[in-house]
Amino acid sequence: NANRKFHPDDTVVTVAGDRTIGGTQFSVIAGPCSVESEEQIIEVARRVKAAGATALRGGAFKPRTSPYSFQGLKAEGLDLLRRARQVTGLPIVTEIMSLAHLDLFADVDVIQVGARNMQNFELLKELGHCDKPILLKRGLANTIEELLMSAEYIMAGGNHNVILCERGIRTFESYTRNTLDISAVPILKRVSHLPVVVDPSHATGITWLVEPLSKAAIVAGADGLIIEVHNDPGHALSDGAQSLTPDQFDGVMGEIGRTVDFC
Ligand code: PEP
Ligand code: MN
Repeated sequence: NANRKFHPDDTVVTVAGDRTIGGTQFSVIAGPCSVESEEQIIEVARRVKAAGATALRGGAFKPRTSPYSFQGLKAEGLDLLRRARQVTGLPIVTEIMSLAHLDLFADVDVIQVGARNMQNFELLKELGHCDKPILLKRGLANTIEELLMSAEYIMAGGNHNVILCERGIRTFESYTRNTLDISAVPILKRVSHLPVVVDPSHATGITWLVEPLSKAAIVAGADGLIIEVHNDPGHALSDGAQSLTPDQFDGVMGEIGRTVDFC
């Protein structure tokens, strides 16, 4: 059960070895929106690790709005993530789109359920039957209560390793890609014992907003961040406009490292 009433202590999710999300230490998951090539993912993995990231993200199965957009390298992308993990030691976080691919995710460290699949209840139920950490992103137009109910679907099956993610919601505001619902952070921390991470990249869609909203997330009580970083954002196959360069990421880590300890 995700409710703090039944579980007063904060849940700390073990990600890989001694790496955890939640509790006293702060996590930063960083990497490209999509895995694009071996050179790209290894380069980004090395750079984000050097800057202090605690896990590597990268999409292999991509939920794109248009069917004509890059759909991800799929199984090959997962192989490249494993190689990047081997090189850097960083645990890997990547999105599952379909239960048909579940076997391919057997040695992924954290399985991401994207915003568009937050209410794919059959997917959630099945993920409840494995013991892997699940990063559950809030849907584009879902309430906090609905996010918690989706976490409940996973936990009801016996998997208690759920990490909640606020990634911005649709509002009338068009300056940003989404509107970061910063109030979701203290609310989720109050009503639930699960770790909460914030995605300032998808919340804003704009690189320069990543740093101030990362700081806002920390002050609001988040347990971590998930940030998009690309070695060449101008040529990224997805989400280039919100992706930091490794140097920019280094700058953000320097700024936020003054207020939190990375695990
Ligand atoms: C992503 O993390 O690249 C992604 C597609 O995020 P979301 O599901 O939050 O849109
Ligand atoms: Mn993305």
